[in-house]
Amino acid sequence: MKTIRLDEYAPLVGAEEIAEIRALAACLGSVSLQHINSTSQGGGVAEILSWLVPLMQDVGIDARWTVIEGSAEFFEVTKAFHNALHGMSVEITPEMFALFREVGEQNLRKVDGQADFIVVHDPQPLGLIAAKRQGGATKWIWRCHIDLSEADLRVWGFLRTYVERFDAAVFHLPEYAKELPIDQFILPPAIDPLSEKNRELDPSEVQAVLERFGIDPEKPIVLQVSRFDRLKDPVGVLEAFRLVRRSHECQLILAGGSAADDPEGAQVLAEVRERAEKLPDVHILDLPPTSHREINALQRAAAVVVQKSIREGFGLVVTEAMWKGKPVVGSAVGGIRRQIIHGVTGFLAHTVEGTAFRIRQLLSHPELAAQMGWAAREYVRTNFLLTQYLKNWLLLLLTVKHPWRGSKQWAVFAA
Ligand code: UDP
Repeated sequence: MKTIRLDEYAPLVGAEEIAEIRALAACLGSVSLQHINSTSQGGGVAEILSWLVPLMQDVGIDARWTVIEGSAEFFEVTKAFHNALHGMSVEITPEMFALFREVGEQNLRKVDGQADFIVVHDPQPLGLIAAKRQGGATKWIWRCHIDLSEADLRVWGFLRTYVERFDAAVFHLPEYAKELPIDQFILPPAIDPLSEKNRELDPSEVQAVLERFGIDPEKPIVLQVSRFDRLKDPVGVLEAFRLVRRSHECQLILAGGSAADDPEGAQVLAEVRERAEKLPDVHILDLPPTSHREINALQRAAAVVVQKSIREGFGLVVTEAMWKGKPVVGSAVGGIRRQIIHGVTGFLAHTVEGTAFRIRQLLSHPELAAQMGWAAREYVRTNFLLTQYLKNWLLLLLTVKHPWRGSKQWAVFAA
């Protein structure tokens, strides 16, 4: 994999922005940082770490990325916790808490006790906080990528006993933050415009991908890219498409794959396939997690992008489509609401019918679609590109390293 250097972003964000980032990194000095999460591929967290870690290294941070190990049962437990934290009704047993503790202990050896900062992503590796030494120099940061605003109280009550031992917690949006006795920061995530997933593509590259999947390049494409997860509501997308098809000749692509830490994917995919059987013009693509160029091409080929999530952390896939100048019809949930300014950078929808209505509107008015796509790209350029994210991380690390008079801190880092 080609390593991208910070200076390569200058044509997109300006040389001043790059200089500012380097100046902030110089203030931080030489520090080491270990990111810890639960999967190296699949889903937004792995995606963002694969971009952020090399850039942190490029600005002089001794950064590395470690993935915890766990049994299939452990990932079933953490997926149940994930669903419960998103407010779904899930059966939780004491054995689940016991397994969570056990796997945390088994992974303690992965912690770099010498690091200046340890950043734990999401709930799965929270147990590693047991390695924190009382009065030690390492600053522990919990980076939460999910919406906790309607979290199940039993699961959150259990997990918060871990979170409270961190030095700081970081959330995507202010409404996701919780009452906690530690510093809290708000930091929206970002996409990498130079990655294989988002770089400019030649029309011939787009064409080749469509051909490979047997997709008609002439028929307008409605696309949703997501892991096959019920919270992404692929069945709702099929329903909306069925309504759209009554009046518009178009095709639907549901492109997705699974993440190593999500055991439900295969079952959801089978359900979606069954539901789609009777619908014409539906392409269901089960893609390997390395299909970055394919997703890039599909997003560029789409006339309208849909993200009909029932719950969403941030929805990086929305950011990706917006960056490609696409109008997105997204559910008014989670970080999608932060990205789509209704009627300006996309449309927010609340129901299957509403989603279908907006898709039809965009298919019938290509000039509106183009204008919205342009606004969407500019909004991403100024708010959600990786350089902004890196800058915000540097500010955050500086704040954690030099606490203000030792009092509890609360800060929002955004563009
Ligand atoms: N993604 C992917 N392959 C897939 C499905 C999704 O590479 O089959 C990527 C997608 O392009 C995006 C990320 O996974 O970069 C999904 O992030 P998002 O925040 O939208 O959702 P999450 O999966 O983290 O809930």
